[in-house]
Amino acid sequence: MTLSFLCDFHVHSCLSPCADITMTPKEIASVCVSKGIDWIAITDHNSARNVRVFSDVLNKFGVVVIPGIEVHTLEDVHILAYFAEVEKAEDYSEWLKEEKLSQLSVDPEISGYQLLVDEDDNFTGFEEIWLGQPALLSIAQTLSTIEEYGGVSVMAHIERKMGLLAQLGVIPENCREVPMEISFKRTLDKGLPLENIIHSSDAHSLSMITPTVSIDSKTRSYDEFRSALYSNGRSLRIIWD
Ligand SMILES: [Zn+2]
Ligand SMILES: [Zn+2]
Repeated sequence: MTLSFLCDFHVHSCLSPCADITMTPKEIASVCVSKGIDWIAITDHNSARNVRVFSDVLNKFGVVVIPGIEVHTLEDVHILAYFAEVEKAEDYSEWLKEEKLSQLSVDPEISGYQLLVDEDDNFTGFEEIWLGQPALLSIAQTLSTIEEYGGVSVMAHIERKMGLLAQLGVIPENCREVPMEISFKRTLDKGLPLENIIHSSDAHSLSMITPTVSIDSKTRSYDEFRSALYSNGRSLRIIWD
């Protein structure tokens, strides 16, 4: 039987320096429950360190979490990476931190807190490396390394700041196959070479989380997410507000 799931695949946790500190597992779970959201992704800037706890807690509330990261490339372009398993996201995150992020520390009073959290919404520590910096990876290197870790890439909010189109002015040939996250419906009227598109909230605060797509599938598996993403709208429908 095919079901219809309400989803939002771009949500920041309290680990992202620019997100509210109220973006904790139980708070996000209760918003999802109240809005009928079945399936989300946690996508913090350059890190997956909160993904495991969110996955555990939200699962108890009946919400499935895709482990993700929003990678910031050298071109100042944001790319969403989605992984099949928490371990894979954590491995990629660790590699990014060890090999590709400068060891810049952050003054949370100026740049925002990068908080790690436990199952009961207690803050347990904080990420010391500045997550708002570009990783030492080009767009092409980001796409290929995400693939090496078994992940799937989506170009984030292409027509907004830090989006592919906004930063480069064009959609380069080598990115045409990558699904694109569109922020505004009017972007579709511009005749761009867009095939597989998605829309997400990019929520940095609780009130921003909202169903942005619905997916028709049998279950909420990673494989079904991936095929819906590449279905050219057949099993993924955008909910414009
Ligand atoms: Zn972004
Ligand atoms: Zn984001």
